[in-house]
Amino acid sequence: MQRKAPILLVCISVLFTFSFAQPLNEKKFADRVSQERLLQTVRDLVRLGNRLGGTPSGDKAAEYVFKKFRSYGYVPVTIEDSERLTYTNERWLLQVEEPRKFKGFFKNEGLAGFSPSVSARSAPLVYVDPDVDFEPARIESAAVLVPFPVAHDIYQKFVDAGALCVLSFALNNVGSYEGWSFLTDLPSSTDNPIPVFTISVRNGETLRNELASGAEVIIKFSTKTSVFMGRPKTVVATLEGRSDQYFLVCAHGDSDSGGPGADDNASGVSGVLELARVFKNLGAGKTLTKPNQTIKFIIWGSEYFSAEGYITQHSEELGKILGVFNYDEIGIGKTRNCVYFEGNDIPQNEGILRVMQKVGEDYVGKRRFWSEATTNPAQGGTDSYVFLQDYLDKLSLPNVEIPSITVYTAAWSTPKTFPQTEGWSSKAWKGHRDSVVIDFSPYYHSTLDVPATTTEREPFNMPWAVKAVGITLLRLAW
Ligand SMILES: [Zn+2]
Repeated sequence: MQRKAPILLVCISVLFTFSFAQPLNEKKFADRVSQERLLQTVRDLVRLGNRLGGTPSGDKAAEYVFKKFRSYGYVPVTIEDSERLTYTNERWLLQVEEPRKFKGFFKNEGLAGFSPSVSARSAPLVYVDPDVDFEPARIESAAVLVPFPVAHDIYQKFVDAGALCVLSFALNNVGSYEGWSFLTDLPSSTDNPIPVFTISVRNGETLRNELASGAEVIIKFSTKTSVFMGRPKTVVATLEGRSDQYFLVCAHGDSDSGGPGADDNASGVSGVLELARVFKNLGAGKTLTKPNQTIKFIIWGSEYFSAEGYITQHSEELGKILGVFNYDEIGIGKTRNCVYFEGNDIPQNEGILRVMQKVGEDYVGKRRFWSEATTNPAQGGTDSYVFLQDYLDKLSLPNVEIPSITVYTAAWSTPKTFPQTEGWSSKAWKGHRDSVVIDFSPYYHSTLDVPATTTEREPFNMPWAVKAVGITLLRLAW
């Protein structure tokens, strides 16, 4: 009989260890996540320019990331990706020459990627809605004002008609791009004939009204750009586990829009770095043992392109990848304070997403945690999709089922509502249980995606995203 007491104690202590050690580690992990450090990393990265892969700015950003990993105790590796065409917009000028009242009119305007260099010239402005009144004769030798982003086929139509440049603005019913400009690329080519400027909705409408009143508007413009082949640099840091099977935590390191890209995607890079720092820190302090599986942290030199290169190079070991966590835009959400885990309609994501959903529910509303969290159906458009079947097929790679998830706090420049995938309504979601509203950023792919409008305005988003993935990994890899 007397032996029962110690056995009971052992049982209780085993139970205690299983039930409380993990939450204790989760608490220690969450406590170490530094909001200030996350914000500072975004400021630092944005100061380096648009960080496009293969450009001097991209090289500097890769070096910054490399040094950060090293200072956290990792032995990082830089991969030189294959060559691709890229560009730098060195300087450019856009002015309204006539009427004089528009002096100093343009602010926060943009120049499309892969625009050519052109010397200073002036041209009359002509308003065109190609769906309504496309008359080639009006466009010849003119600067063309268009009320939407210029798709490549429309661009070619303007070129063929002899336009000298295009000024494009994007109407948006939720206030995005109102006093700042969306950003875009021309076809990736060294010989695009004319530049495209992107201008704010407010300025676009003012100019359109001026033209409608019968006034003549003269635009003066010049550009100095370079289009060249460059090799993006991807940086990898590894937290060794007991097994060489691994989880991958990643983010694209470039501002794919060509703008400052604080939210898209300096925020994601900052999140990966912070996660790597805290794990290493907890390991060094003996709070965490060696993980059962390895964790690789990767900052891609170029969105899509570098992840494609990586899986092509690692085609033999795709089976070792247990799951991908991709951060893309974790800096702001205009209308909700939600962390999203995508995509719950991809069957192989179920295991990891159930854990994430539980993490979302366990911590919702707690101090220094998210106000809302939910999984959502696949939307596409980011690096996690490179690891999924369709993409592997496209690259003729073995059809391995890799769970691949994107974590974010906003997408696009307008809110979008989708039916929730059946069986996935989350207790941490405050909206309708059968639908999910994807929050947006008014600064998405724009000239004002800067820290002041995004990460500094909602400084809590990045720590939330780091905690969500960190706690999920504590439950999966330890
Ligand atoms: Zn992105």
